[in-house]
Amino acid sequence: MTEEELKQFKAALSITAVAADLGVPVVHGRCRCFFPTRHAHGDRTPSVSFSEERGTFRCWVCDDVRGDVISLVQIVKNCSFLEALNWLKETYAFLVPGASNAAPAYERTSGQNRTMESNVAMSRVAKEAVREAALEYQPPEPTKELVSEDERKKIILSFLKMLSPVDKTPAAAYLVRRRIYKPIWDKMLLRTITDYGALNNKLKESYDLEVLKYVGLFNEKGNLRYYKHPLFFPYLDSKRRSCYFQARAIDRSVVPKELNLRGTVPYPYNVSALDQKPGWVYLCEGVVDTLTFLGQKIMLMGQQIAAVGIPGVRSFKTEWLPLFKNKSVVLCLDKDEAGRSGTEYLQTVFAQSGIRTVVLGEGLEYLDTAMKEGEDINDWFGGKK
Ligand SMILES: [Zn+2]
Repeated sequence: MTEEELKQFKAALSITAVAADLGVPVVHGRCRCFFPTRHAHGDRTPSVSFSEERGTFRCWVCDDVRGDVISLVQIVKNCSFLEALNWLKETYAFLVPGASNAAPAYERTSGQNRTMESNVAMSRVAKEAVREAALEYQPPEPTKELVSEDERKKIILSFLKMLSPVDKTPAAAYLVRRRIYKPIWDKMLLRTITDYGALNNKLKESYDLEVLKYVGLFNEKGNLRYYKHPLFFPYLDSKRRSCYFQARAIDRSVVPKELNLRGTVPYPYNVSALDQKPGWVYLCEGVVDTLTFLGQKIMLMGQQIAAVGIPGVRSFKTEWLPLFKNKSVVLCLDKDEAGRSGTEYLQTVFAQSGIRTVVLGEGLEYLDTAMKEGEDINDWFGGKK
């Protein structure tokens, strides 16, 4: 299958029909998220929307639940790109252009395709880790409190202390590609895992395995969750302490690309920017966009710009509104469909609390420098994926 044929094949598929064949009922262009525990009430009000016209889907809350028909198969069947494509080709053989003698697209040797192949050839351990990552949304509910909430926070804090600074690691290269540099790594205490095996053992020596599972650091198989997610963004409070974090994959073939710690997000990322003093704050989608702003030497009305992040457009919690007291908010969500509906939602929520909002770039769309369709803040500032 040539690239052109792959395009034709994808265009011939109905994403909602494929979803139905995968056992995912799409009603009025929506379905419940594949990661229900990341949502309030198990995503009773479906958050994933489908665009039949574009052949795409996206969860309003989970940043990493989005893509085309192939990504959909990957997420639902928890498989690689290649496995997903093969499943589609077998299931919808009658739609494959020139079906009888076409060579598969992956036999060509672009870098992208090599990633897919190595994905398939991935060691069993790595595969299990990925599987585990995808299963992260279904932790068995602990029947009783194994450790107190205070104890849980202490364990998370001590875990974060065991991690290494990102300097001179693959995580540093990932950040630099996105134009996020050392002053920000240090300021926000970004951390990474340099020796997964050693850390895994150290944790097992330090804590009871059941406790490690209970607090959400270990998986059911009894290993540290973050085999494929080595970059850590601690959610620092105003005292630069943290009992919550997000872990991120730096290899872009990994799905999902982010793992949030189990439990509720306690406050927005970089909450210390919400200091109750009058001023502006930029509200971003995701940690990377927030860090992008924090790294800019841009002054606004004599102040370095302040930015906070929410994990996804729909993850804003109304109980956070008092934190925004005295602030005016610049809404900086992604320039796409979900970003726009999220912006509308946040405008309403803030307006109801008497908090002024403006939308980044609104009224300036005619400028060459305006954010383009599909861009996020990091793209806009020149970061590379
Ligand atoms: Zn979701």
